[in-house]
Amino acid sequence: MRPDRPQPRSGTRRPVAGGGGHVARKRFGQNFLVDHGVIDEIVRAIAPKPGEALVEIGPGLGALTNPVVERSEKLTVIELDRDLAARLRKRQELKVVESDVLKVDFAALAAEAGQKLRVIGNLPYNISSPILFHLLPVAEHVVDQHFMLQKEVVDRMVAQPGCKDYSRLSVMLQWRYDMACVVDVPPESFDPPPKVDSAVVRMTPWAQPEAVDVQVLEKMVAVAFSQRRKILRHTLGAWMAERGLEGGFDLQRRAEEVPVADYIALARRAAAG
Ligand code: SAM
Repeated sequence: MRPDRPQPRSGTRRPVAGGGGHVARKRFGQNFLVDHGVIDEIVRAIAPKPGEALVEIGPGLGALTNPVVERSEKLTVIELDRDLAARLRKRQELKVVESDVLKVDFAALAAEAGQKLRVIGNLPYNISSPILFHLLPVAEHVVDQHFMLQKEVVDRMVAQPGCKDYSRLSVMLQWRYDMACVVDVPPESFDPPPKVDSAVVRMTPWAQPEAVDVQVLEKMVAVAFSQRRKILRHTLGAWMAERGLEGGFDLQRRAEEVPVADYIALARRAAAG
């Protein structure tokens, strides 16, 4: 090897601990859980039971899959990595869907199961928000979701008005789910370790959410938070005026001060025309 050729950083191509020779693929967001204390804590938080329709996104090398299926007896897993899916297919108790989770029809999975789903996963962090938004329209088919995400994302999901983390994500998800952070997970619990702290969030769809046009809500919240430090008169004020929506909403607030219920009420007025 020529001495001037760039060398791989030590450890980047080594097999994952206990992974039967598998080398983590960065493009698939592969950070495998290896801390058994943390795995136990997560499985206790999920509390899987026989007869439930459990679906795991990104089972990987089975860190959560194995203890969960021990308790639930059956489990559907969705895995994009062809090599990992091939390994998982050897297990009779698993139904393996080899696919990009963003292409999976969760309503169809629930119809097939004849019951609502419990969805779990240590998500690939590079597509965690698209996964959350893919599941949002099918929340009526879901009992609950337990997801490992970047701690920073979980903080934004559960943030209340007035907090620095209160954001578009807080409003869009709190409208549809009751959410709580249930486990904090440090980088060293994974192989390879991610650069960020992680956390597990429990998301339980509200039984009777306010009916709202999600696209209207999404656009409105994007406008409101486009300049989060400014008074809403400068941003949402114009959006409301364009739609002939005068009054009934205090525009002297900042986006980060407005409760979710106020955004929902305004989106309903806008959709009603
Ligand atoms: N569950 C394992 C664990 O906790 O050790 C692996 C978690 S790892 C963070 C994310 C997993 O999601 C990997 O197995 C990866 O191959 C898989 N994955 C990545 N992108 C995916 C996608 N678009 N659809 C389905 N699975 C995906």
